[in-house]
Amino acid sequence: MRVLVSGGGIAGLALAFWLERLGIETVVAERAREFKPLGHYIALKGNGVRVIRRMGLIEACRAREAPIDSLRYVTSTGRLLREDSTASLDRELGGLIAFRRADLHAALHEAISGKVELRLGTEVEESETAGERVEVRFRGGRTETFDLLVGADGVHSPTRERVFGKGLEVPFGGHYVALTLEYDHGLELQCGVAYLGRGQMVIFLPMSPRVVSLVVYHGEVGQWPESREPGALRAFLLREYRHFAAPVSRAFEAIDERGYVFTDVITQVRMPHVVKGRVALLGDAGGCPTFLSGMGSALAIQGADLLARAIAEHRSDVPRALASYEAAIQPLNARYQESAGKMRGFVLGRSRVRAAVRDAALAWMPDGFMIRQARRFYDAENATAALT
Ligand SMILES: Cc1cc2nc3c(=O)[nH]c(=O)nc-3n(C[C@H](O)[C@H](O)[C@H](O)COP(=O)(O)OP(=O)(O)OC[C@H]3O[C@@H](n4cnc5c(N)ncnc54)[C@H](O)[C@@H]3O)c2cc1C
Repeated sequence: MRVLVSGGGIAGLALAFWLERLGIETVVAERAREFKPLGHYIALKGNGVRVIRRMGLIEACRAREAPIDSLRYVTSTGRLLREDSTASLDRELGGLIAFRRADLHAALHEAISGKVELRLGTEVEESETAGERVEVRFRGGRTETFDLLVGADGVHSPTRERVFGKGLEVPFGGHYVALTLEYDHGLELQCGVAYLGRGQMVIFLPMSPRVVSLVVYHGEVGQWPESREPGALRAFLLREYRHFAAPVSRAFEAIDERGYVFTDVITQVRMPHVVKGRVALLGDAGGCPTFLSGMGSALAIQGADLLARAIAEHRSDVPRALASYEAAIQPLNARYQESAGKMRGFVLGRSRVRAAVRDAALAWMPDGFMIRQARRFYDAENATAALT
């Protein structure tokens, strides 16, 4: 059996890891010209952590974990609403690791290095299922055949667009920004802080006295800059967040014009099917829940595990394996998307009344309520993915 994975991000490398274990010849075609681990803080939770443990990567991930013991929710001007301990979340969720996407990507890359063929600077231009094979034409004209093509090429997946059609992204309205800054921030260590505004949210994760990671959820406020340069983003954020508490402006002032900032639109990918012929979609490509769910990397990791398991079980019957994968992953996609949908108004909504209700709920919610809600979500996740 020969599998082509389009996209060497989190989902693509995780799938390559499992397929190599199964002794299946796997080629990963990655558009980027060089392997460069990029990306800032993500939170891997629940089943995502369990799968990482089974992959033998838990130590590498835990070693790079953010030193955060609690998360404070405050208003845009800094008034405290509530504080939750991350240790209890970790316990109740069956795992919670906040660490850099770059570290997860590097750990996956190291695990497959020398074992899986990773073709950099390559992309698929055309593919067609022909009988029991899928024929692929790469950029440059080279053609090859495979038993299966997996589109793991991210939220704006070219594989999805080519094979399943256009218009499958559902924009939530707004942008996501992740960055890491170096300056004397003076923030309390071990304590994350989320500033909540109206359609604006900034989360600080202090890593050391001079390093802080930031996540910004920005709704439809102001005119998002056309330029992707960090300098243009800095000017925009300084202007649109000038009414926030002083630590927010101080952080934006520290944005380095030569630094790496990750930004993307907040969009969901809703697919009636993630399999067509001999092509399957994996990770964000097939079911991006949006950055609002906080489950993108967990979904990518679980999806890779589920697809590899389905292939292992029905190795000589690819259509059956794909049907089994689709049956397992679609309820999970739906669940994460539903939870992201619930977060939409909470984070991106501009209404003054809604923001006041949110802040009051956060302030008065009894301790343990949020944790119980989260636990209910993850219990359902376990039942859905049958992954214990
Ligand atoms: C460089 C980068 C930085 C990121 N940083 C953050 C971050 O800081 N915070 C956060 O929350 N999320 C970040 N993400 C997104 C996050 O990784 C995903 O939402 C999540 O992990 C799901 O993973 P995925 O493998 O489905 O998609 P991704 O991790 O996005 O991987 C998709 C891969 O496909 C490749 N690709 C795209 N088009 C093609 C093509 N035509 N042919 C071949 N390969 C292609 C991309 O280069 C990428 O390597 C980042 C993604 C990337 C690519």
